[in-house]
Amino acid sequence: MDQKRFNPTMFKFAREERGLSQKDLAHELDIQQSSVCKYEAGDMIPTTESLKKMCDFFGYQKDFFFQDDLPVYSGLVFHRKRASLGAKERLRLEAEARLRVMDVLYLFRKKRIESNVIPRMNREPEEMAQALRKYWNVNDGPIDNVTKLLEDNHIAILSFPFKTAELDGFVLNLDNIICIALNNDGCFPPDRQRFTLCHELAHALLHQNVFPDKEIEKQADTFAAEFLAPQSAIENDLALPLTFERLEQLKRKWKMSMASFVVRAHNTKKIPDVVYRRIMMFMSSRGLRKHEPECGLVPEMPTLLNNLIQEFFTETQDALSRLKLSESRFKDRYPEIKIGGLSEMSVGKE
Ligand SMILES: [Zn+2]
Repeated sequence: MDQKRFNPTMFKFAREERGLSQKDLAHELDIQQSSVCKYEAGDMIPTTESLKKMCDFFGYQKDFFFQDDLPVYSGLVFHRKRASLGAKERLRLEAEARLRVMDVLYLFRKKRIESNVIPRMNREPEEMAQALRKYWNVNDGPIDNVTKLLEDNHIAILSFPFKTAELDGFVLNLDNIICIALNNDGCFPPDRQRFTLCHELAHALLHQNVFPDKEIEKQADTFAAEFLAPQSAIENDLALPLTFERLEQLKRKWKMSMASFVVRAHNTKKIPDVVYRRIMMFMSSRGLRKHEPECGLVPEMPTLLNNLIQEFFTETQDALSRLKLSESRFKDRYPEIKIGGLSEMSVGKE
């Protein structure tokens, strides 16, 4: 049998996922910093003892470091971030998403699941939103649960705490599988998360291999707005006057932010500049631009990935080994999944 080779990239991602420098990691593993450098550069193979320390520290099984099937992305690009997201945080999140998404890929491929979407075919963002609604049989009204709609069509949603409020989400475009990483830190209200999902979906559908700029962001927002509330359907809803009570009603109905309707009304010339500015100033002065009333909206919970994992553990003897995770890492990564008798049934062979 072929001896599998230690993969320096997996080691590097494991370190970055923890947000550690090479120096910090050397300290944690109680090895020389030069060794960490050499492992990552592929200039040296870890000793059995170092490898054991790595497994214990990172919570990955040995096989994790010896795999070379890390997925290739058609661009892992961060959108919907604030300028203040630092390079270090960005690196950490990118590594974490890359490693988490390996579970998605494994399970989706095993079940032969692919995202059910349509190609762009030169459509404008609005047209694409309308076409997708039609393709997915969504009626003209509000979308009750965007998360469920996306998951029903096999868009994978990786919902995890980003440990920063500087980024809402980002998209990982894989072969035939769209995966959206969504920040569930609790810092973003449900309407904003719904919008983020649609915004990131837009990037996957419209912007493969495109460098992010303002125009691209605008297009993704346009898609998201039209997808969540088609212009033809909200035409009457935007009729004057847009009072505070009216905006609350609209938010409850469409599960979109109050501000989004003001912007929409302005963009479609339902209200003149002066009214637009007056409403926005009023909302700012009351702190409503930062914190709108919740209007009874509750967060949507993704279930697809967790269900696939549950099923996988039921069907598979050595499920943890297949995912190359230690039990503690599994519990850490999927805190809401309860699998009975985990330690007895699935600890991998050493
Ligand atoms: Zn974006």
